Amino acid sequence: MAVTGALDELVTANRILAREGVVDAFGHVSIRHPEYPDRYVLSRARAPECIDVEDLMTFTLDGAPIEPARRHPYAERHIHGAIYEARPEIQAVVHNHSPSVIPFGITGTQLRPVMHMCASMGSRVPLWDSRTAFGDTNLLVTNMAMARDLAATLGNHPVALMRGHGCVVAGSSLRDVVFNAVYLELNADLQMKARSLGEITFLSEREVEAVLNTRSSFTYERAWEYWCRRAGRPYDRQPVGGPLVDKI
Ligand code: MN
Repeated sequence: MAVTGALDELVTANRILAREGVVDAFGHVSIRHPEYPDRYVLSRARAPECIDVEDLMTFTLDGAPIEPARRHPYAERHIHGAIYEARPEIQAVVHNHSPSVIPFGITGTQLRPVMHMCASMGSRVPLWDSRTAFGDTNLLVTNMAMARDLAATLGNHPVALMRGHGCVVAGSSLRDVVFNAVYLELNADLQMKARSLGEITFLSEREVEAVLNTRSSFTYERAWEYWCRRAGRPYDRQPVGGPLVDKI
């Protein structure tokens, strides 16, 4: 995809995540730069609902802005660079404080798939606690040392929870990562509701694998079109079999 189109899609991703309640004034989404894989594109520090294409900035993986530093970047941009650095296959990253997800990072209760649409999170979601390696901080990931530690906990998983803070979601495309972030929030909400009713039957590991192995790029496309409409953004269809892949 041309760079211009990719930037428009990144704006759309910001608006969708805001519209769907995954981010509020805080939280951010980035893409690996389509032409320079050792860079990423992320907005200046602004609420995702308000972001437009002129807010987007390019950074090296260590978080240095490519442009003259006239704009205020997100303090937690390092999260993105550390994940792109550790995972060459990752093309898009979301960091958020998704409200229903937070309780699972602070109680020891595992967040696990309860519904087939939510299988993207995988059977096990690792938890990163900043206190383990960095002691009592303000919990913000404001340097590469913390971000690399978080990326190490993420490992090869698509999602990691951050204790007392939020989570990160890493994906093979922007549509993939937005899909996973939206359904992660839904799964967390459903899991809490189900818990109040009784014992939960979670998806088995094999069911999770079966969902991911049979999900086509059309699933992501159908969701993306719907979310574009709800967010008031133009929908630009991706050719099936193009840059979208089904799983990471
Ligand atoms: Mn944060």
